Amino acid sequence: MSSIKHLKQYIRQLSDEADNSRLPSFWFTDWLLAVIDKPSLFLITDEEYQLTESELAQFYAGIEKLQAGIPLAYLTGQQAFWSLSFTVNEHTLIPRPDTEVLVEQVLQWIQSQPINDEHPTPKRLLDLGTGSGCIAISLAHELKHHLRYAHWHTVALDVSPEALEVAKYNALINEVGEIDFIQSSWYESLPTDMMFDVIVSNPPYIDEEDAHLAHLRAEPMSALSAPNHGLADIEHITQLAPKYLRAGGLLALEHGFDQGEAVRQILSSHGFGAIQTVQDYGGNDRVTLGHLA
Ligand code: GLN
Repeated sequence: MSSIKHLKQYIRQLSDEADNSRLPSFWFTDWLLAVIDKPSLFLITDEEYQLTESELAQFYAGIEKLQAGIPLAYLTGQQAFWSLSFTVNEHTLIPRPDTEVLVEQVLQWIQSQPINDEHPTPKRLLDLGTGSGCIAISLAHELKHHLRYAHWHTVALDVSPEALEVAKYNALINEVGEIDFIQSSWYESLPTDMMFDVIVSNPPYIDEEDAHLAHLRAEPMSALSAPNHGLADIEHITQLAPKYLRAGGLLALEHGFDQGEAVRQILSSHGFGAIQTVQDYGGNDRVTLGHLA
């Protein structure tokens, strides 16, 4: 086999491999681009590019990992979410596009609130189980850089110190270094007098018996799956939310496609009103919101 190969040959080989494996075909080309550190246009403009021996070795090693079930985002260490780029590793869930619906809904609610322009009341937002920080950072980024709402402050918690390191780094590279990160199992280590206007979370919600979990084995199980048909953490977060939410405050939760009814029930039994479920881009129930009456 020739040791020097052209990009063109790779692309042909990659399409064959994509046909033969059950991996998304763009993973192969994206991995190739990550190895040679070039933007996607390079595939069109520089077809004659020759991969070096070390690029070749790195490329093949990565393909083996993808085939063994490691997601592309853990290989590249990057995942786009909202309009931002997030560093991810095996300590963090990989941000999903569906979670952007949660960010969108929270932003809409914040923008619908009246503001006293002269003296805006300081407001606080809490993200529970922040992981890579994608929700807290996207929200803080919008509030600061687009809406210029300097009166909002974001706090993000995670039980995993490793995830918090990743989230802090992501906050810095996305220019929202002022977010407060606290290591805590849900509300446990939060000062009891710290009150919030918004509590948001994408908690683990997949049923422990769900066969889908087998396909997600590279990601931290503690971020994916919960007891009680996946509802245990949603229930815990909702039950304690009234202690930390100001009157009229918003609770916004991501959940499974078949959990809308159950989550609305949980919110309603813990004092929330104006409860509403919103669907994701695939038309599945994904986010439920309620106001503390
Ligand atoms: N939505 C993710 C999935 O089904 C799970 C995220 C979560 O459990 N919070 O792959």
